[in-house]
Amino acid sequence: MTAPGERLEIGEFEITRLTDGTFLVDGGAMFGVVPRTLWEKRAAPDRENRITLALNCYLIRGPGATILVETGVGPDVDRRYIDFYTVRREPGLFALLEGMGIGPESVDVVVNSHLHFDHCGGNTVRSGEKEWRPAFPRARYAVQSGEWEQALHPVERDKPSYVPARLKPLEKSGALDLLEGNSVIREGVEAVVVPGHTAFHQGLKVTSRGRAFFYFGDTVPTSAHIDLSYIMSYDLFPVETFNQKKKLYERAVAEEWVIAFSHDLRHAFGTMRKAGHRYEFIPLAA
Ligand SMILES: [Zn+2]
Repeated sequence: MTAPGERLEIGEFEITRLTDGTFLVDGGAMFGVVPRTLWEKRAAPDRENRITLALNCYLIRGPGATILVETGVGPDVDRRYIDFYTVRREPGLFALLEGMGIGPESVDVVVNSHLHFDHCGGNTVRSGEKEWRPAFPRARYAVQSGEWEQALHPVERDKPSYVPARLKPLEKSGALDLLEGNSVIREGVEAVVVPGHTAFHQGLKVTSRGRAFFYFGDTVPTSAHIDLSYIMSYDLFPVETFNQKKKLYERAVAEEWVIAFSHDLRHAFGTMRKAGHRYEFIPLAA
């Protein structure tokens, strides 16, 4: 059973937030140029200046398809990530899926916003000492082809965030669908390229019966990042993130999107409104 505030219907689709656990990240790195005196009002840091983030994944069930957006760090995440980020997984994505009666073979499509370790770790699982295999044996894995290239041949600055050895088996098994720009995944479900965090980062839009849901991915990692200038230091192209947020927000308000974030611990869903020149996040009541 999932808690009421973790699940929502958008027309014919049922969307559930499942988290693969939590991790701790330096608050300064999470808010870029924004001074601590401002961001700490929204995200209280611990004594080591770290804030707690969720590893959010979204399960989208609609007519004829079960789609999983993001797979967290996964069960076989490397020790160095666990220690560095104080990763806590219990119970973890796979256990939550099992609790809903969804076995690995029930997932039709896996979509990753991008391929940093905290978004695609559960794409593959260990099979043998140094071998990996797709965790969802029947699934197609939908990734932007530019992001795939970047993950396998990362630029030096971004290298620590990618684990190519864990991704390659997807290509080998033929399960990979490389997308070229905005792409319809299934009727009503569209991958939307939102560059900034990485060059080919993508969000996901679900539209049904006049309602819309938008998953921001790392473009807006938490509701505390709703202001246009609250952008992570991790973003490779922060100016692009700013411009993309501005563009998306206009539509989010006009079309009354339900929105969701990649790393928000408290809020699985919300909406947003414009208040003067600023934007405000409105949590969705359970
Ligand atoms: Zn992330």
